[in-house]
Amino acid sequence: MTRTNDLAPQPGELRVLHIEDNELDAELVAQALRRGGFSAVVVIVQAEAEFERELRAHPPDIVLADYNLPQWKGIDALEVLRREGLDIPLILVSGALGDVTAVECIKRGATDYVLKDGLARLPEAVRRALRERALHRLRRQAEEDLARKVAELAAQKFALDQHAIVAVTDVQGTITYVNEKFCAISQYSAHELLGHNHRIVSSGYHPKEFFQRMYQTIASGQVWHGEIRNRAKDGSFYWVDATIVPFLGADGKPQQYIAIRTDITERKRAEDEIRQLNDKLQQRVAELARSNADLEQFAYVASHDLQEPLRMVAAYTQLLAERYRGKLDANADKFISYASEGALRMQTLIQDLLAFSRVGRNGAGCLLVDCNAVLEEVLANLGPAIRESAARVAQASLPEVWADRLQLTQVFQNLIGNALKFRGQDPPAISVQAEKTGEQWLFSVSDNGIGIAPESAENIFVVFQRLHTRTEYPGNGIGLAICKKIVERRGGKIWVEAQPGHGSIFRFTLPCEAPVEQELGGEKLSKSATASNAGR
Ligand code: ADP
Repeated sequence: MTRTNDLAPQPGELRVLHIEDNELDAELVAQALRRGGFSAVVVIVQAEAEFERELRAHPPDIVLADYNLPQWKGIDALEVLRREGLDIPLILVSGALGDVTAVECIKRGATDYVLKDGLARLPEAVRRALRERALHRLRRQAEEDLARKVAELAAQKFALDQHAIVAVTDVQGTITYVNEKFCAISQYSAHELLGHNHRIVSSGYHPKEFFQRMYQTIASGQVWHGEIRNRAKDGSFYWVDATIVPFLGADGKPQQYIAIRTDITERKRAEDEIRQLNDKLQQRVAELARSNADLEQFAYVASHDLQEPLRMVAAYTQLLAERYRGKLDANADKFISYASEGALRMQTLIQDLLAFSRVGRNGAGCLLVDCNAVLEEVLANLGPAIRESAARVAQASLPEVWADRLQLTQVFQNLIGNALKFRGQDPPAISVQAEKTGEQWLFSVSDNGIGIAPESAENIFVVFQRLHTRTEYPGNGIGLAICKKIVERRGGKIWVEAQPGHGSIFRFTLPCEAPVEQELGGEKLSKSATASNAGR
């Protein structure tokens, strides 16, 4: 049967590409195939170019080729097939073909040859060629699969050898295989390990129950995963992350266990170090908290107990001044007045110190406080100083925050009091703002005063640190230290942004959330402390 090129073969049909210049011979070949039981679509070509075109357009199941053609030899079609990378069998169907030529053709790759006067043999030759091709393809597929598997295994083995410590044991725990990495880390030779129980690397670190649980898991056919401390031959320890996989036999019971471990000694060491550092840190924090508490206790007791004798000194120097002024000599008057000024100053210092040490002691605790109301109260307290300096205070709408109301009042009062006190040439222009930044409220109190050198920005929050003499600006240098203590105890921060001559912005944050515990105390400070910045 011949067909034109556009005639597609039906399923089960044999596609034949026949190189033949003799139409009658071609018909005889088609007939032979039909007789032999093939339903075949045969395309006949004569020239090499035509053959190549047809090969690409409709790859056949088999090529039949006449040996002698006017333009080329049918056997040269083998070259074309090879060039195209096609695994299609070719059978020579030829007139007289000498034995030598026939052998030559088979050598060059023809699958078979059939003489034109023996076409009855053709179907069988075709069948055999197709069978061989199918087998050949299967074998090639299997070879490819095998090669891929081998490559995969090689890659896995490489990865294992690089990183994994591998051991296989039987169900009793006797080592039957170890890889090099196992020997390297345990410092035993394979010879010393094979045939021995895996307990050879036990460190005695883990409790018995640890291994009991492990054995229960793997004996029940499940994979176990965990971290184990092992001991090397020289007695040093190493940590491994281990996965133990049971291999089950036909009866479903484990036959052997394969343990794949990675060295995590470094990680464990780092974890240990971090833990130790943490412990130390916690110890230091506890020590600091204790010594801080001791110091606060000391400051409190000292300032509290000093008040009484001081009151006596102040009262009696006062009395001396009143009774004996003008009655002794001029020097005596001067000395008495120095002594009484000193005593008074010491009294305010001690009261401020007491106020400072009282922040956080036995207070009322944290409530939701309206900052607008707090500010109103502060402005009323500072009324005289505001009027006297002709200050303007601009105030945004302020939020409600969780704080001890008295302490919050004190923070605002100290900051606004400072803004009034450290004013420049112009009347003070003060602004109080608040904005929400994430989980915090950010407050700012800005002024147009004398400003602060950046290098002093941290010092001024330390107790008794001042940048001016008392004659320039009155005060004890405790107001900001109190602000810092209050803000920090509530979980916030306080800082200043300023330049000399360009005003200052004091900023502080307070968490929006209520504190977990009532963490703030709220005892009212001594009058001198609360008013310490109000232009004293
Ligand atoms: P005191 O006001 O009693 O000196 P503070 O602790 O309130 O104590 O302030 C410490 C120092 O910080 C002040 O002496 C002053 O030098 C500086 N300071 C505080 N607030 C301002 C301000 N608004 N402008 C300029 N300097 C300030």
